[in-house]
Amino acid sequence: MLSFNDIIGQDGVKAHLTSALAEKKISHAYIFAGEDGSGKMMLAERFAAALQCDSEGTDPCGACLNCMQSEAHSHPDIIYVTHEKKDITVDDIRLQLVNDIRVLPYSGRYKIYIVDEAEKMNEPAQNALLKTLEEPPEYAVILLLAENTGKFLQTILSRCVILDMRPVERTLIRDYLMAEKQLPDYVANLCASFSCGCIGKARRIAEDEGFIEAKDRVLRLVCDLDRMSQSEISAAIAAIGDKNSAADLSDYFDLLSMWYRDVLVYKSTHNAERVLFSENLHSVAEQAEAKSFPTLNNIFIELDLTKERLKNNVSFPAAMQLLVEAMKAK
Ligand SMILES: [Zn+2]
Repeated sequence: MLSFNDIIGQDGVKAHLTSALAEKKISHAYIFAGEDGSGKMMLAERFAAALQCDSEGTDPCGACLNCMQSEAHSHPDIIYVTHEKKDITVDDIRLQLVNDIRVLPYSGRYKIYIVDEAEKMNEPAQNALLKTLEEPPEYAVILLLAENTGKFLQTILSRCVILDMRPVERTLIRDYLMAEKQLPDYVANLCASFSCGCIGKARRIAEDEGFIEAKDRVLRLVCDLDRMSQSEISAAIAAIGDKNSAADLSDYFDLLSMWYRDVLVYKSTHNAERVLFSENLHSVAEQAEAKSFPTLNNIFIELDLTKERLKNNVSFPAAMQLLVEAMKAK
């Protein structure tokens, strides 16, 4: 499927691109700016496919040879600029783009270059690209994909149309995860909240069993903490520290933050609809009742401190024990 409509969110960017296609006012250079997983590659590829499509419409038709080649990543006039080193060097840009762009398109109306991680172009590479941007061949379209625009020379920015990716609404991501991944709404909602509006991150979390496991561990600890003996707490902490890589631990702390955010929100509003851990509403409500605002506030401070302590090589059990003390306070 190749339609812009398959892409969740990013209505502003989609509107810009489809109206450019409708009016046949195509710029020579675009920057798609947004974090990993925000959908910028999908948008760039849809745009490239629409530009090459026989239908000349605002969406790729999906049926013509151009569309089939676009979808298979084998279109001779959609060129993916690659790099092997940490930076994108002047040689990468010269060989794959600046020299190549002078050759007429093979079969398409346009010759399109997609540069992923374009923020990694070093200054000589950007200067080489600049010469092309100053006098591009008529058929040239250059799509730069970047985390943000901060690393680009002003002279590059001034010659590009800049398209900023926006966080996608939580409910849209939730509905997408429920439909595409067959997740129950409760889990889909959690994954969507945790993704902070980044569809790729949401998808990754939804497919990651480690995340679901971390969620269950958080729930066991936070729900049962007041009823656990010290030796049970120590065992729970040891189990968490044992199995997790550093990346998983950061998920774990983010989940803890989300839990106490729920408790705080419920304490302030008594609105069950705003609780993300909706399946555990009973425990959320219980803790909202039992814990004071200063205690909850202190838990958030301790969560940040715990991450700091771990960075500063405090042992995991010792750091967690301090956190647990804060979590047990009334
Ligand atoms: Zn087509």
